[in-house]
Amino acid sequence: MYRSHTCGELRASHIGVEVVLSGWVQKVRKMGALTFIDLRDRYGITQLTLDESKRPELLNTSLGREFVLQAKGNVIERSSKNAHLATGDIEIEVTELKVLNASITPPFTIEDDTDAGDDLRMKYRYLDLRRAAVRKNIELRYAVNRAAREYLHELGFLDIETPFLIKSTPEGARDFVVPSRMNEGEFYALPQSPQTFKQLLMVSGYDRYYQIVKCFRDEDLRADRQPEFTQIDCEMAFVEQEDILNTFEGMIKHIFKAVKGIDYTDIVPRMTWDEAMRRYGNDKPDIRFGMELQNLKVKREALYAPMANSGFQVFDGAETVLAINVPGCSNYTRKQTDELIEWVKRPQIGMGGMAFVKVGTDGTFKSSFDKFFDAAALEALAKQCGAQADDLILILAGTEEKTRKAISELRLEMGNRLGLRKSDHFQLLWVMDFPLFEYAEEENRWVARHHPFTSPKPDHIQRMIENSPVITDPANYLNHPYADIKANAYDMVLNGNEIGGGSIRIFQKDLQQKMFAALGMSEEEANHKFGFLLGAFEYGAPPHGGIAFGFDRLCALLGGSETIRDFIAFPKNNSGRDVMLDAPSSIDDKQLNELGIRLQPKA
Ligand code: ASP
Repeated sequence: MYRSHTCGELRASHIGVEVVLSGWVQKVRKMGALTFIDLRDRYGITQLTLDESKRPELLNTSLGREFVLQAKGNVIERSSKNAHLATGDIEIEVTELKVLNASITPPFTIEDDTDAGDDLRMKYRYLDLRRAAVRKNIELRYAVNRAAREYLHELGFLDIETPFLIKSTPEGARDFVVPSRMNEGEFYALPQSPQTFKQLLMVSGYDRYYQIVKCFRDEDLRADRQPEFTQIDCEMAFVEQEDILNTFEGMIKHIFKAVKGIDYTDIVPRMTWDEAMRRYGNDKPDIRFGMELQNLKVKREALYAPMANSGFQVFDGAETVLAINVPGCSNYTRKQTDELIEWVKRPQIGMGGMAFVKVGTDGTFKSSFDKFFDAAALEALAKQCGAQADDLILILAGTEEKTRKAISELRLEMGNRLGLRKSDHFQLLWVMDFPLFEYAEEENRWVARHHPFTSPKPDHIQRMIENSPVITDPANYLNHPYADIKANAYDMVLNGNEIGGGSIRIFQKDLQQKMFAALGMSEEEANHKFGFLLGAFEYGAPPHGGIAFGFDRLCALLGGSETIRDFIAFPKNNSGRDVMLDAPSSIDDKQLNELGIRLQPKA
């Protein structure tokens, strides 16, 4: 028997009991005749005491950090109790000590606040995982997994596995490909998601499917993405959008309760994509705070003539002028506003500058463009923005998309600075009615905003059927009849992060064909890539729809972190490398030969 108890289990009620513990040495301290060892396992830390005066032989053992020990002894009351430790009322007076395995000195300390950098931690991830801070995240991940399964199981969902070696059909992201030895010159692809399989399962009659599943996307890794990540992937047949929203709102609420003990009883608000873009400049708005966007250009003519002929080129010449009111910040100093100006000029934001108006508590207005605006014009502008006394109005002007993105980032930044984005304050939101298409400028064609299986809103189907997808006037693509076709698609947003997205699917063969054509695919190409799906739709496909949640992100948010890597046992770094395995790596000539592959420098 290696142990009778774990290192996190013993309490004052165990005093007098003889126990055997096994674990790792966290720390050794010598104080006179007594040597104290903190013994650690997954469950906690227990203090062992070796008393040289009673058992000098125990001190013959050489010990160091991360040695694996087995100790037998009696639970005794601790003289100096440690309230921070669950086992802090007791210690073990050791009678027998055995080293089960030695350890060389670890490259960093196994403590919550380790001083090791990311690369070192990832190289020795198996040691990093011993740290309580990381272990807590892995445990939370399992709790989320269990809660999702419990909920879906209760509702009759089946967990059905789908294959990882599939056919390459790049759409959206790039596929990872796998050469086939048995079919020389041919390649599998790893799934970007089980999308088509779950739809086929609906055709097969498995009307409630889920899977907690790995997905693979060969994307350039923007901040905090992983080339392989996990989804809670779900699909239902004979459902309308409303059924999906209700079912999965329920799942997230169940997870909140099971994992965090939070009773999230509020109805999850819903917002159309148009509204989200207008009010927040963002399709995944953080609605825990206000500071909504004010579009000064749109309203300007009608509402405040004083501004119209200001001669302020920055506003007059801009495609758009957007503002936010930051409450209670009219006392910002020159230094603080200068610093914000630098912030919007950073390459990630990319603005040329920022204007501002301070709405004094005494009814005065001060701006960074006083030369052009008199007091009446500033007052009109402040009124236009709905500003209150003591607000600081921040204004960005420039091209439509860049300015919108920038002000939306600035809004989040101000939310952070004012402490309005606390990680333990959870606010869900559905964003709905996304555009079906997105314009791909380089190719002058439409691409699917979600994926090609998403159905248009019923009253927009006709517009798609009746109009050609061809874009004859690229500069005015927004006027094309397709630009405003909305989809039966929805995203679930948590605190400004998209945690899930899905849609009601196309289930008629001809509409699906029309969709492929709209994306610029020829009939042959559509048949080559998706013939199996089009074929299946000929055999009685039921109406269906689904959603997939980003499992890693959901865990990170519930754990109060921004970084999904902290919630993945063996993650990759920002260049997609596993620094522990040193992967990806080259393979030897024999392997290449077997695959019939010869490497050649990129053209
Ligand atoms: N397969 C989709 C995705 O990965 C989600 C869905 O539509 O269910 O984004």
